Amino acid sequence: MTAQRTYHAASSSGGEYVLTLSIAGGRAKLECGCQAGQTMMMCKHRLALLRGDAAALCGDISTLAEDLARAEVVALRADCDSVCGKMDALEAEKKRIDQEIKKLKKELAWRVTTGAWK
Ligand SMILES: [Zn+2]
Repeated sequence: MTAQRTYHAASSSGGEYVLTLSIAGGRAKLECGCQAGQTMMMCKHRLALLRGDAAALCGDISTLAEDLARAEVVALRADCDSVCGKMDALEAEKKRIDQEIKKLKKELAWRVTTGAWK
């Protein structure tokens, strides 16, 4: 089964980006015409569509629920959720590491400034 549907997302400059959802060979893929989408970066428009965030889309979204329920799209969304979960975990770890570095820098500055180094 091959199917293709387009959705639209508002750009911050007032225009619109076209998102193309395609299903072919048992797989779904989602492309976006924004700059990030054109350079193979994950953009907020595709993430919004995959998450079913209708508020981030504009134009006709009457087929969104139906498309999101398609098995191929469900599989794509599950994969996206999995990767997003890994990224969230890494972001949390990065935040913890950044806080640890900040703490060590503060401690080092205190030692150097006060002469209380060990
Ligand atoms: Zn985009």
